[in-house]
Amino acid sequence: EEDFDLLQGVDAGDESVRYLPALPVIAIVGRPNVGKSQLVNRILGRREAVVQDTPGVTRDRVSYKGEWLDRRFTLVDTGGWEPDAKGIDASVAAQAEVAIDLCDVVLFVVDAMVGATATDEAVVKLLRKADKPVFLIANKVDDVRQEPEVYGLWNLGLGEPYPVSALHGRGVADLLDEIMKVLPTVSAVAKEEFGGPRKVAILGRPNVGKSSLLNKAAGEERVVVNDLAGTTRDPVDEQIELGGRVWRFVDTAGIRRRVHLQQGADFYASLRTQAALEKAEVAVVLLDVSQPISEQDVRIIELVLESGRALVLAYNKWDLLDDDRRRYLEREIELDLAHVAWAPRVNISARTGRHLEKLVPALETALDSWDTRIPTGKFNAFLTELTQEHPHPVRGGKQPRILFGTQAATRPPTFVLFTTGFLDPGYRRFIQRRLREIYGFEGSPIVVNMRVRE
Ligand code: GDP
Repeated sequence: EEDFDLLQGVDAGDESVRYLPALPVIAIVGRPNVGKSQLVNRILGRREAVVQDTPGVTRDRVSYKGEWLDRRFTLVDTGGWEPDAKGIDASVAAQAEVAIDLCDVVLFVVDAMVGATATDEAVVKLLRKADKPVFLIANKVDDVRQEPEVYGLWNLGLGEPYPVSALHGRGVADLLDEIMKVLPTVSAVAKEEFGGPRKVAILGRPNVGKSSLLNKAAGEERVVVNDLAGTTRDPVDEQIELGGRVWRFVDTAGIRRRVHLQQGADFYASLRTQAALEKAEVAVVLLDVSQPISEQDVRIIELVLESGRALVLAYNKWDLLDDDRRRYLEREIELDLAHVAWAPRVNISARTGRHLEKLVPALETALDSWDTRIPTGKFNAFLTELTQEHPHPVRGGKQPRILFGTQAATRPPTFVLFTTGFLDPGYRRFIQRRLREIYGFEGSPIVVNMRVRE
């Protein structure tokens, strides 16, 4: 029963930490030169265009915080639609697809003076399929006399076109009023925005030394806020200063207050681990070096990987290690934990305090990797080089090609490859390996997804 309480108290809504709800996301999509940047500046209330909407200049997704009346939102400018060797349509459609996935409302901008082009039509097809509100924006309608130009855009099947002049601001206020009518107050797609101290889950099977580690950390360093009251009766999180910055250790109640359950202990332990991971950005998984690495250890690491959180491995009770056990340990690590060889490793003793200070740089490295974004241009250069050196093997007379790739998300870094056919699992692993070779991503899982174009 207590365990369920803990799970329900997952969101500790206290004032001391900025727990920002995920703001709704508005994505702007459109060809180069239709005036997206100008519109972004208008919506953000800037006087001058700070970004030039120049064709051929690679820009990546850029997001801004915006406000209209009392509503706040994130505005994502998809940019990066430069024509590439493989033809503009693939990259435009790819960017649009990613933008659609990541937003609550889409603003599709066309140049009303030019009308819809073939590239526009390709995007329209995707937009019609998306179950997201789409605003068709007819830009460059600087004058009421130009409004008739807009009627032709009804043919796109995206509903009523909104004539605006991003340059002069004409029609933009009305447009924003309409957008606010359909924009949710909390995003249905964006993840919680992490603000304030970074959130750490300390995980590990019973008796690996979780509470010893917490006590050591809290006892020897300054405790900034202890026993942050959650929605449950019990303390949920603790903030502790380590290495000059404050960290939020989540769900410490579950560590400090030992619950001995006879039946289903594994099940509850796993629920608790998942609840802690929900709230955390990075997990420290403790392993007891005096014991063989167990199935339970591997399962906990598996839960971290599933959650997509950053990972640090802490080998605890180092003071108990003798030479014999040490040799076995290294062998066990090679056998059982080879799949997380990318996680930073610290050898510590929660009892003596040995090397506890190494935990902080390990956490920082893992979080930096977790936050990393590789610009689309760079990522495609990486893909081009990789496929030139190691083309995908021919399967049944066919050879799937990668048309375009983009990093769709961070936390963890998530890549999408647009391909002409299914890539072999082995080839996808090869791409992952190469990504790590080139970019490191120490301490963070990385995800490579695929979208096959017929
Ligand atoms: P938890 O269940 O993961 O919270 O584990 P505890 O912190 O309660 O530790 C379980 C036992 O291991 C206790 O008896 C601790 O004193 C002991 N322990 C924890 N860390 C160390 C360590 O680094 N070295 C040694 N020798 N014992 C430790």
